[in-house]
Amino acid sequence: MKTSDVTKLAMAIEDIFGKRGAKAVLFRAGRMIAKWSISENPDLFKTLLCSVEGKSGAEKAETILQLVAAAVSSQMNTKAWIDRDGEIVYYKSKNASYCFNRKSEEPICHVVVGFVHELVASQLPKSEVETKETGCMAMNEPHCTYQVIIK
Ligand SMILES: [Zn+2]
Repeated sequence: MKTSDVTKLAMAIEDIFGKRGAKAVLFRAGRMIAKWSISENPDLFKTLLCSVEGKSGAEKAETILQLVAAAVSSQMNTKAWIDRDGEIVYYKSKNASYCFNRKSEEPICHVVVGFVHELVASQLPKSEVETKETGCMAMNEPHCTYQVIIK
């Protein structure tokens, strides 16, 4: 699907469910996409988690998301990267799959929030994971920022 098609799909879901309802639906869709990615690459995630065994939750989340950022950067011909501040990990992306050519006063990339959340939360079953988008290109930010807090 082209970038603009995905954006149109998200807008159609907003039309049907309203902003609040769409947020929940799109978040769930993102989680499903992550579940498929994990089930299609079982060894990849096992190997990845073995490599960070004994590390903190934030370090594990950072490792998982670094892999995602590298895959997104190369496959989608865009730039995604990770920053970390203690137990908070930031996934940052210029991909704009869900906010392409859109303007909003609040973040709107709920599919990516669900995707990032599921990838981390499913691999850290003993931790509480909170994920939200704190900055969005639809808000005229230079990139979208997804904050992942590990408790
Ligand atoms: Zn965004």
